[in-house]
Amino acid sequence: MSVGLYIHVPFCLRKCLYCDFTSYPRQEEQVQLYLQSLTAEMVLYGDRLDARHKSIKTIFVGGGTPTCLRPEYLAGILEQVGKVFSIEQGAEITTEANPGTVNLPALKELRAVGFNRLSLGVQSTHRELLRLIGRIHTFSEARQAVTEARIAGFENINLDLIFGLPTQTAAQWRQSLHEIMALQPEHISCYGLQLEENTPLTKAVEQGQLKPCPEEEELAMYQMARQLLGENGYQHYEISNFAQAGYQCRHNLLYWQNQAYLGLGPAAHSYLNQSRWGNVEGIEEYASLVKQGQRPVAEKTTLTIKEQMEETVFLGLRMLEGVNVESFQQRFGKSLQEIFGKQVSSLTAKGLLEQSFGHLKLTEKALPLANQVFAEFV
Ligand code: SF4
Repeated sequence: MSVGLYIHVPFCLRKCLYCDFTSYPRQEEQVQLYLQSLTAEMVLYGDRLDARHKSIKTIFVGGGTPTCLRPEYLAGILEQVGKVFSIEQGAEITTEANPGTVNLPALKELRAVGFNRLSLGVQSTHRELLRLIGRIHTFSEARQAVTEARIAGFENINLDLIFGLPTQTAAQWRQSLHEIMALQPEHISCYGLQLEENTPLTKAVEQGQLKPCPEEEELAMYQMARQLLGENGYQHYEISNFAQAGYQCRHNLLYWQNQAYLGLGPAAHSYLNQSRWGNVEGIEEYASLVKQGQRPVAEKTTLTIKEQMEETVFLGLRMLEGVNVESFQQRFGKSLQEIFGKQVSSLTAKGLLEQSFGHLKLTEKALPLANQVFAEFV
């Protein structure tokens, strides 16, 4: 069975004020150390994995900000993947990009070396909100990035947006949705702001300098996105994701269908052979481990069958179509009803789950309460 490949690029030009992802300031020396170590990590896996796990059906280069690296570096990463792994014909190959870090020549080079999907972190179309959350770009730069990506030949573009920002109004959110749709991306992700611990934005909220978006307003923004995007041809297929027909993100679907993927780079996570593991976060530690011929793993868990079943359900429920009941039975040799009958009955009675066309799925009412539903399965 072929797998997905995630590559973490742990560099950004500047840290956004809400971000707790693993990323460091871009310094050429660190970038070189990272690139050498990434190659070494690939070779390590190349020596250890069997052929089916070296067959790659999706590649997702994320971060951090992959495009804060020179395009030739990203090309080199992809070339190295091709040497160690076998990239399937027609594989979806995504790179994340920050609108402040791309231009036409760079996008042309990325497209030419094989990237066929671009995921741009736009986040907002309002200058004051972009400034509030510490983004390095304006919306006009994002718009230009989309135009240039089209010229470069990208036919599959995702735009990320965040709602529920402090001070953000419903009118601003509506305008952002319209401005984003006007760019006609194939895919739109809408994430509610998470106030992560120890970020400057969270501290500003905790210290009373900023008022968090009230829960009911955030919920109304989510519903507005569902309605407006739905009315304009974007199918809501995962809690935070919307796509035109045929443009669901195949890489992310692997996660939600609880399928195998390999993560490379500092802080990358993997799920292979019923084990989950996460790499160490620091670049020096990562480099030192791979130099010694060791996998740079910080923690690893081998899942019991019960845990695999739980994950298959709560990850699958993130998708609007839900968990395929027949596939569950085939994968585990037991029915979903047999294992989770009690939870399913209770959540169905509360109007939070329903069965439809052979799938168990969240009801409309449950969508904003998804985490509460997931908690019932672990
Ligand atoms: S660009 Fe992305 S990864 Fe980098 S700091 Fe901002 S949110 Fe975090």
